[in-house]
Amino acid sequence: MQAEYDSNNIFARILRGELPCFKIYEDADAIAFMDIMPQSDGHALVVPKEAAVDLFGLSEQGAAAAIRATQIVARGVREAFQPDGVVISQFNGEAAGQTVPHVHFHIVPRYADQSLRGHARQQQDMEVLKQHAARVVAALARLQG
Ligand code: 5GP
Repeated sequence: MQAEYDSNNIFARILRGELPCFKIYEDADAIAFMDIMPQSDGHALVVPKEAAVDLFGLSEQGAAAAIRATQIVARGVREAFQPDGVVISQFNGEAAGQTVPHVHFHIVPRYADQSLRGHARQQQDMEVLKQHAARVVAALARLQG
């Protein structure tokens, strides 16, 4: 059973450039940007370009490309924020906590002395998000250089 894809979901609109984001990475198959309601500082999202609601709707090639991009971006987030750990998560279906119906991977830094903020709860200040994005972009450039 495959969920029907809504081409006007918020990530589809970001992918088409109709809505803004603080982009930190892009390749042929995926983009990554800062989560607007981060659960911790540095929370980023990797969004495959393929039109799929969830992991089950993603092609094998798309899944491989998405995890490759997730690894690259997670390295950048780790380098930028030096967290104590990093959670990678991906939700399928509302019952699992999915709120945006376009497949994506969360990269959530964990800091030993901080608990997570709520999922998709509180919007971050745009200037802070912009600075966080710049930190990841610089870290990715360092890692690639
Ligand atoms: P899900 O609940 O579907 O796994 O995750 C969706 C994520 O997207 C949430 O963490 C939420 O904070 C984030 N989000 C929702 N709307 C926007 C948006 O317009 N821009 C960005 N950058 N993130 C968003």
